[in-house]
Amino acid sequence: MAYRGIGKVAVIGAGTMGRGIAQVAAMAGHEAVLCDVDAAQLEHALAGIEATLDKGVRLGKVAESARDGALARLAGTRRLGEAVEGADLVIEAVPEVMALKRRIFGEVEAVAGAGKILATNTSSLSITEMAAGLESPGHFLGLHFFNPVHIMALVEIVRGEHTTIRTLNSCFHFVEGLGKDPILVNDFPGFASSRLGIVLGLEAIRMVESGVASPEDIDKAMVLGYRHPMGPLRLTDLVGLDVRLGIARYLHASLGSEAFRPPALLERMVAEGRLGKKTGRGFYEWDNGP
Ligand code: NAD
Repeated sequence: MAYRGIGKVAVIGAGTMGRGIAQVAAMAGHEAVLCDVDAAQLEHALAGIEATLDKGVRLGKVAESARDGALARLAGTRRLGEAVEGADLVIEAVPEVMALKRRIFGEVEAVAGAGKILATNTSSLSITEMAAGLESPGHFLGLHFFNPVHIMALVEIVRGEHTTIRTLNSCFHFVEGLGKDPILVNDFPGFASSRLGIVLGLEAIRMVESGVASPEDIDKAMVLGYRHPMGPLRLTDLVGLDVRLGIARYLHASLGSEAFRPPALLERMVAEGRLGKKTGRGFYEWDNGP
């Protein structure tokens, strides 16, 4: 089937997800440019990638030559125009705000012209809505990676209303070339993964709220009883309670199902700043070290 080979990849947003995506792209032989408006964040991301690869070498999981090659193919910039110049694929990983994402894709087309494959790493937002107003909505799709990117095998490939088969094929090749396992999902709120994962997480929170069992025991029920690698409450702590609340609100509004109504306990914990691992407290206490 017809597809376009992907060489250079530009990743916009050097946070948790962007840095992981740039890392796996560089490791797979792509020239990868990471772009962020925040200079400190960009520096932190590039140093973080180097540290992760160094750790891989120490553990014997990454060859020294593979690390050196990946770092040589990786660059960082604060300038969007520089990042996307010559890129075949632009992957956006900025915060989950529709207006921000749409503005960035508009800027990408303005500086680089139409025709590049444009992908968003959104966890839940509509691909079709995000592509509205672009010159080439056929080149637009969702590439939903999972955290931590270098470890998690799944990538959801999300087809918007106008995404062409050639764009999909090109991205299947790209994702498989990263050593990842893609699934194809149509453009519905929360796709396949977030929609199911959020239901389980919210129901676990409602169970804590009504005193069914402790967070530890609810998690144990899923780990030992259903072979989940991690319970839904620990996972909520890792992802961030604020992130999960945002997705729950969006899915509740867009799907209209009570299953997605944010539990009062979640609202309260977020208001109190108990956001999970990143703030040291969520359903568990976290020792994030110095
Ligand atoms: P994050 O907050 O860690 O990083 C976002 C980065 O974008 C920041 O470094 C910020 O400085 C940068 N940024 C903001 N505006 C910018 C702009 N105009 N140009 C360039 N950079 C800009 O966010 P994250 O957790 O990496 O999430 C990014 C996306 O990935 C979101 O859509 C999120 O829903 C999705 N996602 C997150 C996870 C997760 O577990 N965190 C998992 C899957 C998908």
